[in-house]
Amino acid sequence: MQQGVDMQEQEQVNIDELYADARHWHVNTGGETIHAMRVPGRFRNFKWFASCLWLLYLIAPYIRWEGHQAILFNIPERQFHLFSITLWPQDIWMLSLVLILLAMTLFGVTAVAGRVWCGYFCFQTIWTDWFTWLEEKIEGTPVQRRKLDAAPWSLRKIRLKLFKHTLWLLISILTGVTFAAYFTDAFELWHSYLTFNAPQVAWVVVAVFVFGTYVFAGFMREQVCFWLCPYARIQSVMVDKDTVLPTYDEGRGEPRGKVRGKGSEGRGDCIDCRLCVGVCPTGVDIREGMQEGCITCGMCIDACDSIMDKVNRPRGLIRYASEKEMAGEVLPPLFRRPRVIAYSTIFLLAVGGIVYGLTHIPPVELSVVHARQPLYIQMSNGMIENKYTIKALNKTSADRHFQLRVEGAPGVHIVGDAGAGIVLESGKMVPFHVFLAAEPAALKGEKMPLRLVLESIEPPAIRMEYDSVFIGPARH
Ligand code: SF4
Ligand code: SF4
Repeated sequence: MQQGVDMQEQEQVNIDELYADARHWHVNTGGETIHAMRVPGRFRNFKWFASCLWLLYLIAPYIRWEGHQAILFNIPERQFHLFSITLWPQDIWMLSLVLILLAMTLFGVTAVAGRVWCGYFCFQTIWTDWFTWLEEKIEGTPVQRRKLDAAPWSLRKIRLKLFKHTLWLLISILTGVTFAAYFTDAFELWHSYLTFNAPQVAWVVVAVFVFGTYVFAGFMREQVCFWLCPYARIQSVMVDKDTVLPTYDEGRGEPRGKVRGKGSEGRGDCIDCRLCVGVCPTGVDIREGMQEGCITCGMCIDACDSIMDKVNRPRGLIRYASEKEMAGEVLPPLFRRPRVIAYSTIFLLAVGGIVYGLTHIPPVELSVVHARQPLYIQMSNGMIENKYTIKALNKTSADRHFQLRVEGAPGVHIVGDAGAGIVLESGKMVPFHVFLAAEPAALKGEKMPLRLVLESIEPPAIRMEYDSVFIGPARH
């Protein structure tokens, strides 16, 4: 019994030790609105640059390429257009490889540099950044915004809030319509929305996106990362002691204190100005250690560097560093880190598969089915005939003319002119039947292998082959 109590106490102590740091964490679980300051700096600039990459999302559906929309998921016709490339359901395995490639990129980057995706590239944090930038332009600094939120409703407050929410809604509408524009002609879609003739599904897609963007980026902000994002939940298993993360150099910063100069002997470099907390979009105090809410955006680094410049201390009190670096160890090179090697290997295999797929997409899909009922027909003139059902899909962007030939089976020929002047319309699957005929004496056995060749008549040269058999009567 006593032993049980001891074990319980021991367990309690261990748990207490384990969560000793966590008790100091400040994780806003939705009880307050965070109004973060904006401080110029290297990482702020990088974040703006990363934001600009998302402008491509807003522009891409309007780019035309060879007479059609450059990027288009044409679901009714089951085609995915990517500039000159058209992928069909048969090529869907390449999209799977793209997903694997993206996942490995995310895992690899997380292993090396933590949640940089969250901090700089994620649509949630980028859209939130745009929304809060507008909020600052309209309602003022964080202090002014907090005052405005707490103030009773007045004409000025209504005017500012109305203006802000109108702009947020406009961005949300643009985001939603842009998403829908990847699935149909972008210009026609805008026209159909503006004339209220859009199909029901288009209204539903836009409504979902407008609501999601407006609520997630305008109101929930960092709470989406905290409560809804699955990546935020699993990223902890991808980082290790070699992962570089925004880290407060405790040895240099502590003991912290506001007073500088006389009387500050023995103090660390941290002047306890709390600017690093004030700029944090998730409200984290990084000085308490790496925390669940940190999206590794580096804003606290810019903030602290600006303070260090002012107090004439070297920059880097908060910096991107790994746990090992902070402990004085040397960071191993990337190629000696097992996680990085594993993720990179899968990444390269996926890239290889995609490159192979893109360079080997057949311009025409050809399939041939030999008729089973009956396997052959003996005509009144003694000739043996076999029936074949041929399906040809022209995956190029133009209609093309083809001819069909038989190879590898001397004496077997196509009946009539079924093999000549075959027209394959762009993007259409054309099924047709052909009969092959042969003298019984030309047959070398019950089953004679042959090759059906579909060749383009005009340039560019396209040649598709399909191996089949010609079947005759059993020989005894
Ligand atoms: S603690 Fe620093 S790096 Fe982490 S989210 Fe806050 S500002 Fe960004
Ligand atoms: S910004 Fe730098 S100096 Fe100011 S409280 Fe944060 S760590 Fe300390």
